Amino acid sequence: MGASGAIENLVVVGSGPAGYTAALYAARANLNPLLITGYQDGGIPGGQLMTTTHVENFPGFPDGILGPELMDRMQAQAVRWGTRLIEADAEAIDLSERPYRLQVEGQTISTHSLIIATGASANRLQIAGEENYWNKGISACAICDGATPQFRHEQLAVLGGGDSACEEAVYLTKYGSKVHLIVRRQELRASRAMADRVLANPQITVHWNRQIAGFSGDGWLEGLQLIDGEGAAAETLAVRGLFYAIGHTPNTRLLRGQLELDANGYLLTQPGSPATSLGGVYGAGDVADHEWRQAITAAASGCQAALAAERWLSEHNLAVTVDRQPVDPVAADLPVETATTTENDFDANALWQGGSYALRKLYHDSPKPLLVVYTSPSCGPCHVFKPQLKRVLNELEGAAQGVEINLETDPEIASQAGVTGTPTVQLFFGKELKQQWRGVQQRSTVKAAIEALL
Ligand code: NAP
Repeated sequence: MGASGAIENLVVVGSGPAGYTAALYAARANLNPLLITGYQDGGIPGGQLMTTTHVENFPGFPDGILGPELMDRMQAQAVRWGTRLIEADAEAIDLSERPYRLQVEGQTISTHSLIIATGASANRLQIAGEENYWNKGISACAICDGATPQFRHEQLAVLGGGDSACEEAVYLTKYGSKVHLIVRRQELRASRAMADRVLANPQITVHWNRQIAGFSGDGWLEGLQLIDGEGAAAETLAVRGLFYAIGHTPNTRLLRGQLELDANGYLLTQPGSPATSLGGVYGAGDVADHEWRQAITAAASGCQAALAAERWLSEHNLAVTVDRQPVDPVAADLPVETATTTENDFDANALWQGGSYALRKLYHDSPKPLLVVYTSPSCGPCHVFKPQLKRVLNELEGAAQGVEINLETDPEIASQAGVTGTPTVQLFFGKELKQQWRGVQQRSTVKAAIEALL
C-alpha cells in the first residue's frame, strides 16, 4: 500500500481480465495503481476464467490457453509494470464523498479514482434439497470437481444451455460414462461452435424442455426428478453428479444505493464509455455488461476505464505519478508446477513437495503438522489457494510441511482420503486427521489451525 494516510491515484477492485487490464494500463501510465483481487466474495481471484478449461477465442493463442494460465499471465503482466495487489475482499465501498473510501482487511483505503471490475457470480437453482447434496453430487464447477473419484465412470448431468453448460458437458465426458444436458427451452443459447460439439458427441444426451424439480439419494446424489415446460412430471435421471451452468449475477452488492444499477443489478455506464454516474468512478467487465461477457470485451473495457481514469485524474490535477527505475521492468514471474517427488529427490525437511511418495514418507515419519492439498491440473481455485498455503508454511518457518496430491495422477489416494472435490486440504498431526477444508479458505484460518497444534 502507498504511504500511510496517502490518497491513492487509482484503486481497481476485481482481478478478472477487466481488472488486470485496467491495472496494466494504469501502471504503465505511472499511476502506481492498487488492485484488490477479491478472495471469497463473488468468486475467486482471477474471476470466471479460473473455472474454465481451454479458452480458444482469446486472440494471440492460436491453439488455445487454459483459463487459469491466461489469468496467471495477466496478473504477472500487471504486477511486472508496478501494480500492487491486495489479496483480499473489499468489505465496504463509500462513494458519498471524495476521496472515495474502501475497507479492506480492516484498513481504510482512500482513493481519487476507482475502477469497479468485480464481475459476476455463478447462480444456484435454490430449490428444496439443493443444500443437502451440495458438494455431495451437486457442484457449481465441472472444471474444478469433474476429476474427483466419485464421478468416474458414472452418469452425470449438466444444467443450462449456454456456452458454459456445453463446455462442461463435453469436459465431463472425459470422466463420466454418459452426460445428460438438461435444457429448459427447445434450443441452446450457446454459440454455434459449442452447440455443434455437444450435438455431435455420442456420449451426451440433451433433454430439451426440462427443468429439475427435485433430488434423491442416500447421502450422495443418486437421481434427479425432471419436469417438462408445463410443470408436469417427466423422467427421473439416475445420475451421481449434477453441475450447474445457469448464468451469473453481477457483483454489485457493495454499490447499491450509491451508483445507478439496472433492474438486474448490473452497473450502468454511459453508452460507449466506462463512466458511471459518479466522477472518477468507472465500471469494466461483466459487472457492467450483461450482453457480451467475453474475456476480450472485459479486457477492452478495462483498458477504456484506465484511460478514462488517467484523463480524469489529470483534468482534476490529482495524479501523483511515480518514476520507474529501471525504465524497463525485470521479466515477469510466472508460477511453476510442483514436480512429483521421488525416492531420489525426497527431502525430509522441504516445505512443499508433490506426489504419493512424499505423502507416505511425511505422514509416517514427520514429527510436524502436515498439510495435504488435493488438486487437479485445471482447477483454478487450486491456483489461488496453493500460493496462500505456501505462504503460511513460509511464515511458520519450517514448523509444518505441505504435500500436493494431483487427483489425475493419484486418484486412488484421493479416493482413500474421501476427497470429493478440489481443492481439498487435510491437516494431519501424529498420523491423525485434525481438520479438513473444502474450497478456498482464508490464509489466517489455516495458519491458526496449524499454530494450535504447535
Ligand atoms: P448464459 O449464456 O447466461 O447461459 C445460461 C444458461 O442457463 C441459459 O441457457 C439459460 O437458459 C439457462 N438457465 C438460466 N437459469 C436457469 C434455471 N433456473 N434453470 C434452468 N436453466 C437456466 O451463461 P454462461 O453459459 O455461463 O455464459 C456466460 C457468458 O460467457 C456468455 O456470454 C458466453 O458466451 C461466455 N462463455 C464463453 C465461452 C467460450 O466462448 N469459450 C465459454 C463459457 C462462457 P435460457 O437460454 O433459457 O435463458
